[in-house]
Amino acid sequence: MNEIQHLVDGATMASTSGRSGPVYDPATGEQTGTVALASVAEVDAAVASASAAFAEWGEVSLARRTKLMLDFRNLVVEHADDVARRLTAEHGKVLDDARGEVARGIENLEFACGIAEALKGQHSEQASTGVDVYTVRRPLGVVAGITPFNFPAMVPMWMFPNAVACGNAFVLKPSERDPSAPMFLAELFQEAGFPPGVLNVVNGDKEAVDRLIEHPDVKAVSFVGSTPIAKYVYASATANGKRAQGMGGAKNHMIVLPDADLDMAADAAVSAAYGSAGERCMAISVVVAVGDIGDQLVEAIRVRMEKLVIGPGTDPASEMGPLITAEARDRVAGYVQAGADAGCSVVVDGRDQQFDGDGFFLGVSLLDHVTTDMSVYTDEIFGPVLSVVRADSYAEGAQMIRDNPFGNGAAIFTRDGGAARQFQQDADAGMVGINVPIPVPVGYHSFGGWNDSAFGDHTIYGPEGLRFYTRPKVVTSRWPDPSTSGVDLGFPRND
Ligand code: NAD
Repeated sequence: MNEIQHLVDGATMASTSGRSGPVYDPATGEQTGTVALASVAEVDAAVASASAAFAEWGEVSLARRTKLMLDFRNLVVEHADDVARRLTAEHGKVLDDARGEVARGIENLEFACGIAEALKGQHSEQASTGVDVYTVRRPLGVVAGITPFNFPAMVPMWMFPNAVACGNAFVLKPSERDPSAPMFLAELFQEAGFPPGVLNVVNGDKEAVDRLIEHPDVKAVSFVGSTPIAKYVYASATANGKRAQGMGGAKNHMIVLPDADLDMAADAAVSAAYGSAGERCMAISVVVAVGDIGDQLVEAIRVRMEKLVIGPGTDPASEMGPLITAEARDRVAGYVQAGADAGCSVVVDGRDQQFDGDGFFLGVSLLDHVTTDMSVYTDEIFGPVLSVVRADSYAEGAQMIRDNPFGNGAAIFTRDGGAARQFQQDADAGMVGINVPIPVPVGYHSFGGWNDSAFGDHTIYGPEGLRFYTRPKVVTSRWPDPSTSGVDLGFPRND
């Protein structure tokens, strides 16, 4: 049994709380480990270590920060497969998908390696005669990150590389469901040569989160997870005077216009709805079929679903793995029943598919003629269930997105450039895809939804991440004319 503790001050810190939680292999249903659940004292130890580290780390040169970050990036690249295997073992996603997660995390590391260029300030020479004004960006101090189960490696890498590159010290509280991958990343971080305490990991649950958001020495909190907790963390952290950002849940729509490339749209719907068992905040969960394309589209999706191979993530043939827990599987299955009870047509019922063993598997479901009052439409299901809503016009589809309280991603499939451009303006969401179902921005743009999908005024990673993890200092300087102090420059000034 794998016993996962904390990583504080550059070394494993044994738990003292006496509390722990189970970690499962979702493909077998077996408990494979326990994870320590931190008490206030353990969080305080991590914050104290980070505070001490910040005193020096905040002044380390950009050149040294860059070198360490490059060394860390190279270690993660070298061990990418080891990280991916840990993801599959505890999250359940198929290995190829896990490798993709690591690759997208590495993008953020590579962005952080460019910190010297990205953190250049602004300078106004001769704002007034003899007066220069310049803005530099200073680190905040100790910052904390709280991350969800569905991207246990990538989401921490959305946060700590940028935070640390900016000169902060970081305390990470990963999801207690699948903590091995973030712990392994923290070990690689130490191996790269960062000073102890620059990155600490405390495992835990609400108790650890609550201490982080009230701790007087934590200056900022980044949160990624479900909407209710994002709202809670954002409200509590800001009430405690901290800078905060909370990325929340989603209900992403994909509008398919009658002129769309049907095969392209059907392929996209299947991969974006069922990839990673639908446990992605950017998963497509609603397809809005406009006009007369609906029947053909539903059939094209259904045919593709028949071919989807569901099985353990370690089997190279598997295209979709299990859900994270037995409770998650049963909750998602409950939504399929709720859809049927509410009167939508269940084209494919994932509950019909049988699986050997005790893994947390559920087949894929397709619901048609869903209406916007049904719980399968209003709630974030976070599982392999795709709803199809029929709309008479583009305008009706765009209005649906505007009326939905979430606003993470939205996509359109069409061959019409004018319609696509109009959609990019109309979509009430932070990330828009045009013939791209999951428009997760590259590491040098920033990620974030709108409305109930994000709280706070900074989105995450990329340039916005650097702004979140630094604060500006503006210097206004005046130097007397050197001749007044008797220095002979030997040439006339101002020529
Ligand atoms: P979650 O909100 O249950 O947990 C996220 C983190 O909050 C975990 O570290 C957990 O330990 C902690 N937490 C849970 N309950 C808490 C409480 N009552 N008080 C304080 N802390 C608490 O989310 P999850 O189930 O791990 O992840 C899935 C959710 O995350 C989905 O809603 C998904 O859409 C969302 N998500 C959003 C994004 C985004 O960028 N918008 C990215 C990934 C996942």
